[in-house]
Amino acid sequence: MPEGDTVWRSARNLNRALAGQVITRCDLRVPSVATVDLTGQTVHEIVSRGKHLLMRIGESTVHSHLKMEGSWHLYPVDGRWRRPAYSARAVLGTESATIVGFSLGKLEVFPTAEEEDHVGYLGPDLLGADWDADEALARLRSRPERTIGQALLDQRNLAGIGNIYRCEVCFLTGVHPLTAVADVKDLPRVVDRAYRLLQLNRESAVAIVTTGNTRRGEENWVYGRAGRPCRRCRTPIVRAEVGNTELDVREYYFCPRCQPVPEHPGDAVVPATD
Ligand SMILES: [Zn+2]
Repeated sequence: MPEGDTVWRSARNLNRALAGQVITRCDLRVPSVATVDLTGQTVHEIVSRGKHLLMRIGESTVHSHLKMEGSWHLYPVDGRWRRPAYSARAVLGTESATIVGFSLGKLEVFPTAEEEDHVGYLGPDLLGADWDADEALARLRSRPERTIGQALLDQRNLAGIGNIYRCEVCFLTGVHPLTAVADVKDLPRVVDRAYRLLQLNRESAVAIVTTGNTRRGEENWVYGRAGRPCRRCRTPIVRAEVGNTELDVREYYFCPRCQPVPEHPGDAVVPATD
């Protein structure tokens, strides 16, 4: 699943290729927006907000979310697509480039003036110019009974964290993901870790690296390492699942020694929001 840094890089690359150009091809393949025609409109900018992508074109914003499998590709005008055409949900072209959104989890178009109505619920963006750690902390603390693992995934609190980052941030701060937010001893440190990890990985398209080691299989502390020894204490890493709704059932990984299971786990009933 793409995390905030992936979407940030997509936005930057698409923006570099298309900003200032006029749309010459517009083919949106989702019924609700199939009649939208943006040809003749100028691309103002393409930005990310958390895991959401916003393309400001003319007076409109094309809003997409990659969810599990989605991606935007940038091609020469008549370039060969690297994913099957049937999975294309959006094709936008200019005189110099074509971009194709494959398997998008969400695609909608609305007036740019109404952007806040659609994405205003998102918490501070870890990769945004307007990142605000205090606001993120206040939002996390507004539901003190929730588990920290779930609260970190909830994009209303802070935007950009997916499953890999939440597992790694919890390990790096010695917090078990089921700990209630109220019981996390140093919440600012957790938020600061998340911020620094996303910033570190912003430019890297290869893999999310949290250990500082880019060798394949060595990139993470706990994520994807069930049964393998903790890099700090050699205790086998544990994989577990949590959540009640489709959005929330996610695996997580932890070291039972470095991240002791809380005596009174937090409440994981509140669904997270993408
Ligand atoms: Zn350990």
